[in-house]
Amino acid sequence: MKTLDTIAAELEGYDPQALRADRVNEFLLRLVEPVLEREQATIFQALGRVLAQDVISPISVPPHDNSAMDGYAFDGGQLQTGDADGGQLELQVVGTALAGKAWQGSVAPGQCLKVMTGAVLPQHLDTVVPQELVTVRHQSAEEGAQSIAIPRGLLRAGDNRRQRGEDLMQGEPALRKGALLTPAALGLLASLGIEQLPVVRKLRVAYFSTGDEILSLGEAPREGAVYDSNRYTVFGLLTRLGCDVIDLGVVPDEPTRLEAAFQRAASQSDAIITSGGVSVGEADYTKLMMKKLGDVAFWKIAMRPGRPMAVGRIGQSILFGLPGNPVAVMVTFLAFVRPALLRMMGSTEAATPLLKARSLAPLRKKAGRTEYQRGIVSQTSEGGLQVSAIGNQGSGVLSSMVQANGLIVLHHSQGNVGAGDEVDVMMFEGVI
Ligand code: AMP
Ligand code: MG
Repeated sequence: MKTLDTIAAELEGYDPQALRADRVNEFLLRLVEPVLEREQATIFQALGRVLAQDVISPISVPPHDNSAMDGYAFDGGQLQTGDADGGQLELQVVGTALAGKAWQGSVAPGQCLKVMTGAVLPQHLDTVVPQELVTVRHQSAEEGAQSIAIPRGLLRAGDNRRQRGEDLMQGEPALRKGALLTPAALGLLASLGIEQLPVVRKLRVAYFSTGDEILSLGEAPREGAVYDSNRYTVFGLLTRLGCDVIDLGVVPDEPTRLEAAFQRAASQSDAIITSGGVSVGEADYTKLMMKKLGDVAFWKIAMRPGRPMAVGRIGQSILFGLPGNPVAVMVTFLAFVRPALLRMMGSTEAATPLLKARSLAPLRKKAGRTEYQRGIVSQTSEGGLQVSAIGNQGSGVLSSMVQANGLIVLHHSQGNVGAGDEVDVMMFEGVI
């Protein structure tokens, strides 16, 4: 467990009074450590969890070569031999193989097997001709006996065969430790016959809002007070991330109440998220209490919205002291807290990918800070992405966060953006 001072000394250009956004991420990734405890989860419980060890395929998928089509299976070598029959290959149909019901007999040269999609292909039958490509000829002598004619030019040996192990080969890793388990991953595990798997235990995150002016839901409105919105966005963000949440309510600006809240939070969580009370010159007890109870750094981040943030450790718990403004809470969460929590969850997929979109209008941007502008991303008629920034970018304006479907990320050294210029966007879909 490194102290904040040690980490600060390791970072190049660490300036708590004007900290670059990318330094914040570097700092946090050094501060937090993955949770080590694991538990068994059934496949139904595993969605969104982090895999605690590699899954090695116990079987090959598919387990046998099989047909990708309804049609006729035959030895594809015959497509190259003699061409005396006007470009057609004539084969006698000896039987039928269904998915789940293999053909037991043999199939000689000049013969083929009628197959349904998924049917196991007997050895030497490496090619399937789809039924719509053949001409079926009934042979009158034997009831039901058939032969088929295949036009030679349309097929190559090996066509329409799914090979054993082409999805997963026995003994190979199917999923890696640290993978976030998606619906596709659940299906993959099931295809291997796996019902239970080890996952990292859920992260426990406690949160509360601070401020004398903050009203809890259910309280009567009063002059100068605002309803707490941060606890609900934080609840939503944490729940989407798959954390166990501990809601400690609104804590007024009183030393004893704050101390009790921090102590309670630290005793039962891996991480604590607070909002409010970390601004410069803030005349309240939140910062004092953080300092008293833990190893905490107070930053001014070169960013917008956001800027003030407190980070550190109280007991065993990691503290993220976010600013109070509702949009700043969400942006600092997405930019800094989320990647750090993902690392604590044991995930190896911490970075949210940025996409490129063309800005529909010029954007004013001051070099020397990272800006996160709320934007609406849409598709251009050519299929690329375009983005327009929402008019009101005020850091308290939550309605524009609702309207937006992503954040335009304007990096530290970037200056003004011209209409038509490409910018990076962080899409909300799948993230919040
Ligand atoms: P602070 O960071 O405490 O100076 O707060 C900045 C602004 O955010 C102030 O206008 C606060 O009223 C507002 N604010 C702080 N906490 C919350 C909250 N939990 N819900 C809504 N607004 C808040
Ligand atoms: Mg305040």
